[in-house]
Amino acid sequence: MGYKELSLKLSPDFSPDELRQTVAKILHLSDFSYQIITQSLDARKKDSIHWLVRVGVTSKELKGPAPTPAPTLSIPYKKRNQRVVVVGSGPAGLFSALVLQQAGFAVTLIERGKDVDARAESIATFENGGIFDPTGNYAFGEGGAGTFSDGKLTSRSKHIAKERHYILSRYIEAGAPDEIAYLAHPHLGSDHLRSIVKPLRQTFQTLGGDIQFETELKNLMIEGSTIMEAVIENASITRTLKADIFVLATGHSAYETYRLLIALGVQFKTKHFALGARIEHPQTLINEAQWGTPRLSGVLAAEYRLTSTTARHLPVYTFCMCPGGTVVPATAYPNQSSVNGMSLQARDGHFANAACVAAINLDSILGTETSPLAALDWVEALERQFFETTKSYALPACRIDDFIHQKLSGSLDSTSYPLGLELTPLWTMFPEQVGTSIQAGLVDFSRKIKGFETGTIMGLESKTSAPIQSLREDDLLCAGFKNLYLAGEGSGHSGGIMSSAADGVKIAMRIIA
Ligand SMILES: Cc1cc2nc3c(=O)[nH]c(=O)nc-3n(C[C@H](O)[C@H](O)[C@H](O)COP(=O)(O)OP(=O)(O)OC[C@H]3O[C@@H](n4cnc5c(N)ncnc54)[C@H](O)[C@@H]3O)c2cc1C
Repeated sequence: MGYKELSLKLSPDFSPDELRQTVAKILHLSDFSYQIITQSLDARKKDSIHWLVRVGVTSKELKGPAPTPAPTLSIPYKKRNQRVVVVGSGPAGLFSALVLQQAGFAVTLIERGKDVDARAESIATFENGGIFDPTGNYAFGEGGAGTFSDGKLTSRSKHIAKERHYILSRYIEAGAPDEIAYLAHPHLGSDHLRSIVKPLRQTFQTLGGDIQFETELKNLMIEGSTIMEAVIENASITRTLKADIFVLATGHSAYETYRLLIALGVQFKTKHFALGARIEHPQTLINEAQWGTPRLSGVLAAEYRLTSTTARHLPVYTFCMCPGGTVVPATAYPNQSSVNGMSLQARDGHFANAACVAAINLDSILGTETSPLAALDWVEALERQFFETTKSYALPACRIDDFIHQKLSGSLDSTSYPLGLELTPLWTMFPEQVGTSIQAGLVDFSRKIKGFETGTIMGLESKTSAPIQSLREDDLLCAGFKNLYLAGEGSGHSGGIMSSAADGVKIAMRIIA
């Protein structure tokens, strides 16, 4: 059997037959198999938009050896008499728990929120005007913050090839489409994510793992530098869980858990993070701007990623763009406001949304050195202030044009956000340096995307990354502790689904080693 790789330019709506025929023609083959290695859309020239596809072709009519497969994660199993408690079932906690259970540890995974089906019901109730459920919302519940998201699986983290391969393989086994392994911008969509977390949980349970929902970590009992047991609460009943190792993967919305850890002496430092708002446009406006046409057969919806850097302002960029998506209320707590975006696999909604945020250093914004606790208090107070402005989960919002000219025009377009918008001079709600930087960014973006200024901007977007970071030893242990690991976004060492899941896997592999 011989092997050859080819780079092809294919039409936006190419079919598997067309790909096959192209390979056969170029390599003069009749009997062969192929596998897509990478696939990305090249839309730089609107009159020749095409897919760039790299394929690996195997055939007895070819010469040349197949490339050596990239190294994959090897999880050594042995019977171990060690118990691990993992807290949080988001990407970091779930994958950490799965790897550890696969390696022979006895793992208990506790999650303060509901299982995914009950969580979906709570979210639907809330979005239909019902009460907010602290155990079932866009931040808390089975699968963590990523479950009701766009499910973008891109990551800027370096050196996670093995972990990425492991995670994508588990997603595909659990029902995700094969294309996530090769698309340049893979995404799962909220509908797929919801159905994928269940088989992942079942795999963990089949291996002997124990998962307990609506069970919250309340305290840790410490002797010297060793955690002896976790104090947990379920249905107002408090009990303790003993373990040899504790992995906390509680995400960056878990303010009480952060405060508990700080009080227990876990060391954090403040770090740069991003703050801003969500912008929304009709998807056809974005398609026209990016492709020169409102629809492109074979491609779901156009994306954008914009950055603006000037000497006078903070860097401003768009983030977590959700083509054909919905803006959602992503607060983890009642009477606070925080938005995010999601989309379904088909990305066929009427709107496109994205975060538009300024990169900030809180010390320079506040003009004083900020402690980790003060940073958390500051972000939480802003989330409360946004809620207080409308006295509801309706979002303060205005037209992008109004934000740029700092003058309300008196109207708001329709939105995908389910709980309504309230016309507000949004620029006044941010610290001045953040507001003027976002304003300058919006001016810049309006030059790059035709019609950009006609969109809507709404706030608050406060969760693009954690404002604090835990101190870690080289072996990933929490500084000063012998058996405590902080994994994922809450540790401040990762951001997004893929890098948080990879962080959980890396920590599990360190524990195994
Ligand atoms: C609406 C939305 C859309 C998003 N879209 C994307 C996207 O498209 N792509 C992307 O890469 N990222 C996206 N993100 C961000 C992504 O979801 C997070 O980066 C990722 O989930 C972080 O993973 P994690 O495991 O570290 O923490 P989390 O996913 O936050 O999970 C933490 C878990 O811990 C639980 N927990 C917290 N405290 C306790 C406690 N004391 N006891 C027990 N359990 C506790 C929580 O209930 C939660 O389930 C999105 C986020 C949201 C909210």
